[in-house]
Amino acid sequence: MDRSTIMSTIQQQRDFFESGKTRGVQFRLSQLAALKGAVERNEDALCEALKRDLNKPRFEAYLGEIAVLIKEIDYAMRKLRRWMKPKRVFTPLIHFPAAGYVYSEPLGVVLIIGPWNYPVQLILAPLVGALAAGNCAVLKPSELAPHTSALIAGIIREAFDPAVVAGVEGGVEAATALLDQQFAHIFFTGGTAVGRVVAQAAAKNLIPTTLELGGKSPCIVDRDVDLQCAAKRIVWGKFFNAGQTCVAPDYLLAHADIKTKLLDLLKSGIKEFYGEDPKQSPDYARIVNARHFERLVELLGEGDVIAGGQTDPADNYIAPTVIDNISPDYKIMQSEIFGPILPVIEYHDLTQAVSFVNRLPRPLALYFFSTNKQKQDSVLAQTSFGGGTMNDTLIHCATAQLPFGGVGDSGLGRYHGKASFDTFSHKKSVIKRWLVLDVDLRYPPYGNKLPLLKRLVGWFG
Ligand code: NAD
Repeated sequence: MDRSTIMSTIQQQRDFFESGKTRGVQFRLSQLAALKGAVERNEDALCEALKRDLNKPRFEAYLGEIAVLIKEIDYAMRKLRRWMKPKRVFTPLIHFPAAGYVYSEPLGVVLIIGPWNYPVQLILAPLVGALAAGNCAVLKPSELAPHTSALIAGIIREAFDPAVVAGVEGGVEAATALLDQQFAHIFFTGGTAVGRVVAQAAAKNLIPTTLELGGKSPCIVDRDVDLQCAAKRIVWGKFFNAGQTCVAPDYLLAHADIKTKLLDLLKSGIKEFYGEDPKQSPDYARIVNARHFERLVELLGEGDVIAGGQTDPADNYIAPTVIDNISPDYKIMQSEIFGPILPVIEYHDLTQAVSFVNRLPRPLALYFFSTNKQKQDSVLAQTSFGGGTMNDTLIHCATAQLPFGGVGDSGLGRYHGKASFDTFSHKKSVIKRWLVLDVDLRYPPYGNKLPLLKRLVGWFG
């Protein structure tokens, strides 16, 4: 889509939005139903596209993309009427008689930019919130998952009037052209560096943004846990989608007393899941492209590889890899890994692990394996992160009732379930009064009313 087509599409959406048609509950429900129907009808095609782009196993495509999305749509459809109702709030007695309300109103035409790692879910789940809240939307899927991007664009054409939802395919150029336009909100999912570019472009037009970014998410394993179960859950969360998951455990902090046993169990967990040669496993994805493959291979040079380490550039294959004896100044600890390599660092007491986490920018996720409630509370109280799971990995982000998003470098704003509806709504605060009981106190001339005012503010303010 060239710049002039982009501009006319946005204008068409603005006109449609101004017509007021997106505001009614029936219209919103019909759009959500259209999205659900299109995703369900295209499930096979979506899984096939994901296979071609990432060699994503069908099971992971269904679980990590389709099922999460359908659940998100169902939840929004079920709750929409309640979310849309104006919320009555407590009103201070000093305003008596009066009632305060918060109205949720749609923002207008919004822009959603997606990444390549979960290219279906991460472009369409924000759309659920945008539609539920009564907006029109322009979507730009990632060019690095080209088969999925083309299919998503086709699905959007099939399911929606372009005056309500339109897809724009392309890379940096298309994104830059879109970022020049005036949108009511920009919802961006991607890396922290591009997030800064998006925030700067949005600031020029004073556009509010949601930035769903990445970071180095720690996984801490204490000595008091069932190590076999912990190891399985870590292997699953780390190597799902070949580690290309924004909330994947990035690095492992293992208590010195259990590290050797845990490493053995991680090794056997990898073998149990993916066999002797994970390259032959139908359940193991590939690195998205040669650039990311080369970036990851460069991280393999330091520390002691205790599992995996094999690579094949012809296939963008990197085996599930665990590296021990990692020093914090190694390259692998300098930025988000976003691939199937798990560096391991040992700690001797929990304060050491906590201060290690706190020396790095605030991560998108944190995982802590411990059966000790006091230790869990202490880690939760002393660390800041987007969201996390105790004694498991990944699953907090597949819970529509929990707002999902980062903090600091890992993002700004949140979505999923009601949080998505709120993100794409303006909260309009209104006091309703009646033209009776008009107390003169606040009106000039103020004379000597101040002492009385102070007393009333103290009692009723
Ligand atoms: P990316 O930032 O490279 O690209 C994301 C999107 O931005 C793509 O659509 C791309 O075309 C566009 N883009 C790229 N350069 C741009 C520029 N200069 N100006 C404007 N737009 C530009 O991210 P990615 O490589 O697709 O995804 C990986 C990153 O995303 C990782 O850091 C990961 O942690 C993060 N991520 C975060 C979440 C989350 O929910 N928080 C989810 C998935 C991925």
